[in-house]
Amino acid sequence: MRAREGQIPAWVPEGEAAFASLEIPGIEPVKIPARKPAKKSGIDPKSLAEGLLGGRRGDLARAITLIESNAPAHRPLAREILQIITNAPQRPISRRIGISGVPGAGKSTFIETFGNFLCDNGHRLAVLAVDPSSTISGGSILGDKTRMELLSRREECFIRPSPSSGVLGGVGRKTRETILLCEAAGYDTILVETVGVGQSEIEVRSMVDCFVLLMIAGAGDDLQGMKKGILEIADVLAVNKADGANEARAMTTRADLERAVAFLSPCTEGWTPPVLAISAVSGLGMADMREQILAFAEHTAKTGQSTQRRKEQAISWWKTLVDQELRARFFAAPEVASAAENIGQRVLTGEMSPSVAAEELLGRIAWDRGN
Ligand code: GDP
Repeated sequence: MRAREGQIPAWVPEGEAAFASLEIPGIEPVKIPARKPAKKSGIDPKSLAEGLLGGRRGDLARAITLIESNAPAHRPLAREILQIITNAPQRPISRRIGISGVPGAGKSTFIETFGNFLCDNGHRLAVLAVDPSSTISGGSILGDKTRMELLSRREECFIRPSPSSGVLGGVGRKTRETILLCEAAGYDTILVETVGVGQSEIEVRSMVDCFVLLMIAGAGDDLQGMKKGILEIADVLAVNKADGANEARAMTTRADLERAVAFLSPCTEGWTPPVLAISAVSGLGMADMREQILAFAEHTAKTGQSTQRRKEQAISWWKTLVDQELRARFFAAPEVASAAENIGQRVLTGEMSPSVAAEELLGRIAWDRGN
């Protein structure tokens, strides 16, 4: 993509005097101005990366803050850290587990109980969150750490509240990169919590190995029906709050769900999602849950699906990043920015059809390298 003759695309910050060239064999190179070096921030990405690889929590937290930052000067630093940890010697395989469920299903209570159970069994655990509602509510689903009081005090556990969403790919990007940092810091189990509101589950599914859905008894047929799409992407299902007066109802719901699941096409070949009855309060079913997550991991490792899924996730994420960046650079180009509003208005008034208007706006940039 090249801006029209004589113009410098706005998305490329003007360099001092230097120019870098983008060379493709057989095609005359296009001159693009070199990016300005990032402002001196006093942050040393190498020592941060070394610190987190050595398991220092403070450095891990600082590196995540860099990843979450929207300041343009921080992006190259964050990228450098990611590059260093990518090239670092391999760590034992980690498990990435998504936890979802409607508000009130008991996600944070479950993470507190299950997280402590995992830590007691020798795991090092990182808990992250994807919270699509944080921009609306201004809150964050893990913002209130007191909901995981015991867990947040454990040495083997690292809890990070959901980042507030901003530009640059939003919370999905930040959570994906944060997962990599936590794994590099030696956490072997990563729990990613999300609220059950639809889109966020799909996003979390695309960044984890195993997706656990928490349900509650007697949520009503309509609600269960609504969740059919979500049921289809779950690898393990659990009816929570199977305790006290609620126990019998939870068992009935469990049996209903088991029947429903039998009719769904499994999202992982050869695996029918188990339906558990658990209680995050009494601790019922925690060992079962771990067993099922391990059985799922074993099944997908044996069939090659776990490696395949991670590869597909990486490629799909890479494409998404290119898409996002292209879009951002396109709309930031002055010849596009100056015309977009006017062209949009003409679509609104019916003076121009959307397809002609799209061509018109895309035509503001010379995509054909001037041939
Ligand atoms: P979240 O919105 O999904 O994170 O749900 P919370 O973990 O905040 O739980 C919502 C409410 O359900 C709280 O009052 C919890 O104490 C309660 N709760 C969570 N798990 C259980 C459980 O296993 N049994 C019972 N009886 N209550 C639970």
